[in-house]
Amino acid sequence: MRINALPSGNGFGFEISHAPEKSLARVGTISTPHGDIATPAFIPVGTKATVKAVLPETMKDLGAQALLSNAYHLYLQPGSDVLDEAGGLARFMNWPGPTFTDSGGFQVLSLGVGFKKVLAMDAQTFRSDEVVAGNKERLAHVDDEGVTFKSHIDGSMHRFTPEISMQVQHQIGADIIFAFDECTTLHNTRKYQEKALERTRAWGIRCLDEHQKLTLERSQKPYQALYGVIQGAQYEDLRKKAATDMAALRSTDPDSPIGFDGFGLGGALDKKTLGTILTWMNEILPAEKPRHLLGIGAPEDLFVGVENGIDTFDCVLASRIARTSAVYTMVGRNNLSNAINRRAFEPIDDECDCYTCAHYTKAYLHHVFRGKEIIAATLATIHNERFIVRLVDQMRAALIAGDYFEFKAEFMGRYKHLSGQARD
Ligand SMILES: [Zn+2]
Repeated sequence: MRINALPSGNGFGFEISHAPEKSLARVGTISTPHGDIATPAFIPVGTKATVKAVLPETMKDLGAQALLSNAYHLYLQPGSDVLDEAGGLARFMNWPGPTFTDSGGFQVLSLGVGFKKVLAMDAQTFRSDEVVAGNKERLAHVDDEGVTFKSHIDGSMHRFTPEISMQVQHQIGADIIFAFDECTTLHNTRKYQEKALERTRAWGIRCLDEHQKLTLERSQKPYQALYGVIQGAQYEDLRKKAATDMAALRSTDPDSPIGFDGFGLGGALDKKTLGTILTWMNEILPAEKPRHLLGIGAPEDLFVGVENGIDTFDCVLASRIARTSAVYTMVGRNNLSNAINRRAFEPIDDECDCYTCAHYTKAYLHHVFRGKEIIAATLATIHNERFIVRLVDQMRAALIAGDYFEFKAEFMGRYKHLSGQARD
């Protein structure tokens, strides 16, 4: 049996329940074989099939609806065949809900040391030689067929092609997977951006073909939805071309060509123009398909994403900064290691409803961070992940209630006002 051009009855779907006027924002539900995701939603990252320092049960309790892992990392260790044998990513890590994996494109190019700092969110603060490694330093090499890269674990050489990325992601078995793309930086030349875009388009067709083949071959497995990735850096014409091309892309099967189930908006994004760039793409992409913004998760950026038509987000920031003792609060960021917290016998944020804020004080967290106790990472991560998950949940509720912009003004007024800065 062939799968339809627009899959239906396979356990994956997207339904929009509210689409308020005056913005591209929408409220909806993504259905997957492992459960539903109420959108807009923040998807915490468990890179290597674990959100560092936190139990999956705790992630569920703090409101995470789905988790995102990395195909590149799981391919290198333990090997995607191990996850396949284990019954897929969700079962392997004891996560009772939907999962995403990225394609590995970003990781082979960034961890393969093609780039030093890939997402130069503020282009002005980096020089190009700080972002793009010189040829000698590069451990990832791109050609039209794929990418050859050196493992960051043991230095062994590997090759990812669109076909291999699809095979790896099918073995890992996440509900939502991404097409293999070439991720560029804001500092690549315009000419190179054009070349990378065409390569990503050609790879998109190869991903659709391989995905269609694997879906048929593995028809006893739960359906996996494939998202195409939109690149184009800071160029309006390239972003619009990429959105038009990827929306129209079909597999080469003459009888039953398939398209993408959704879209990942990726690549180099300048923080100052994030909203404009998202609008270029989201005004073109088909409204009925879900859109994921790759790797963005600072509070102020989440607002920009939601009001410009993003349905899901992922970002390592919340857990990564937590492990360095930085926590979000309603009035900005706080660093628990700072001396001011030594006798602060109150929660991180008295408006927070997380487990950490219900049971622990800043003074205790200050103590365990200063003592380098493992529990520090656990407690701070629980708070930060809850803060971000809840913030996007609150945006969804405000969209439904019709007071989104009032909620945003109130949040951003306080968040910036006392912290002095809201950026990372
Ligand atoms: Zn908290």
